[in-house]
Amino acid sequence: MATKLLITFAICRLIVTVGLTLDPTELLRLAVEGQLSLDPSDLETASLDFGMMGRAKPLAVLHPASAEDIVRLVRAAYGSALGFSVSARGHGHSINGQAQTTKGVVIEMSGSSKGRGTQGGYGSKPALMLPRVSETKRYVDVWGGELWIDVLRSTMEHGLAPKSWTDYLYLSVGGTLSNAGISGQAFNHGPQIANVHELDVVTGKGELFTCSENQNSELFHAVLGGLGQFGIITRARIALEPAPQREIEALLKKLDFIPTSVFTTDLPYVDFLDRVHKAELKLRSKGLWDVPHPWLNLFIPKSKISDFDKGVFKGILGNKTSGPILIYPMNKEKWDQRSSVVTPDEEVFYLVAFLRSALDSGDETQSLDYLTNQNRQILRFCDDAGINAKQYLPHYTTQEEWLDHFGDKWAQFYQRKMEFDPRRILAAGQRIFNPTP
Ligand code: FAD
Repeated sequence: MATKLLITFAICRLIVTVGLTLDPTELLRLAVEGQLSLDPSDLETASLDFGMMGRAKPLAVLHPASAEDIVRLVRAAYGSALGFSVSARGHGHSINGQAQTTKGVVIEMSGSSKGRGTQGGYGSKPALMLPRVSETKRYVDVWGGELWIDVLRSTMEHGLAPKSWTDYLYLSVGGTLSNAGISGQAFNHGPQIANVHELDVVTGKGELFTCSENQNSELFHAVLGGLGQFGIITRARIALEPAPQREIEALLKKLDFIPTSVFTTDLPYVDFLDRVHKAELKLRSKGLWDVPHPWLNLFIPKSKISDFDKGVFKGILGNKTSGPILIYPMNKEKWDQRSSVVTPDEEVFYLVAFLRSALDSGDETQSLDYLTNQNRQILRFCDDAGINAKQYLPHYTTQEEWLDHFGDKWAQFYQRKMEFDPRRILAAGQRIFNPTP
């Protein structure tokens, strides 16, 4: 009881003082079990992301010790007279500052920079929830900031694994579920957001809810693919399957193909899923990882893919491209339309991902300006040619563009925002809504 009173007092005090001045040191009065930090190295880490194209320094950084810490912080922000924003940061692997905020606090969901291990993971995570596997019900409960590589490692101990993946596993569960989470399995199992049973979410009012298809379902669907706008995911229950064994022969038997065209790379399942990390380590060793990444990810409807090919691959890009370009087919029926994510309105669509790095090599075609300009040309071409593309991991700067992006879904998206985050506190770095004073 005494602790509760102390916390309430601390929050009230914060409301008054922050409301008047928004002095970052006042944030330190908030009673949390974890750590509220003004340490310059924490602020620096939180001000950057993988895109390396913009920097936005927060007022403070919270290293939470529990979901309750997140409740306390968001409640304080919701109740403050002036208002300050709160952005969950998973692993900071966004491109355009989506997990950043200048007028508020960043919550480091995946651990502190000081605890970063040599593999790019986090050695000293706070004592948050460890993954809990149910073998009989085939699911795992994980903390929202857990990295997918750690989810995989813990489920493999039980011979189980999540069904749907991203190509790269050093991303947080909350970060990918706020977008969709796609890779080569999505055409079959759907995106990661279609393979979640249940979530714990702290809304923009500082309320902690468990939600699922059957419980607080509006919040559940809103948060999945919701770009962090409706709540902070503190726990996710993820569907598992028996970890696939080598099945290649069985799959090949069903196909008609020229036998000499078969080539095989035989890898354990974990190594296959973790393949991009190997490339990361190589690029890091050459100083080619921490460079600007003007990435562009588009969903292109099947009916327009050949127009896109002519206009972009054979037109704008010509025969000079750099960096990986991924193309994956997707089946719309595997995407739950009740979620917040937006896809083209066609049964089959393709992810086309331009994953390019800007280099200071003297070659103008590898420069940030050149690549950014080419991205603009691609987007303009899509508009002019009526491709009806949708950006995946969308980035826009005006509300008109967001309205256009969401199309028919905008009214629902806006209504959900008003219900779950009426003061527009959360994930301001997405630049969809301005925080209201
Ligand atoms: P962050 O960048 O930290 O955050 C992203 C957004 O989610 C922010 O708005 C943030 O506020 C919000 N957020 C973060 N945590 C939470 C939470 N717990 N609750 C609510 N909101 C939260 N994507 C794919 O789908 N497939 C891929 O194969 C793929 N490969 C990638 C490879 C690399 C090398 C990189 C850099 C990115 C890749 N991505 C891929 C994109 C990636 O899924 C997104 O950028 C994702 O948001 C990154 O996760 P993160 O944990 O770093 O999120």
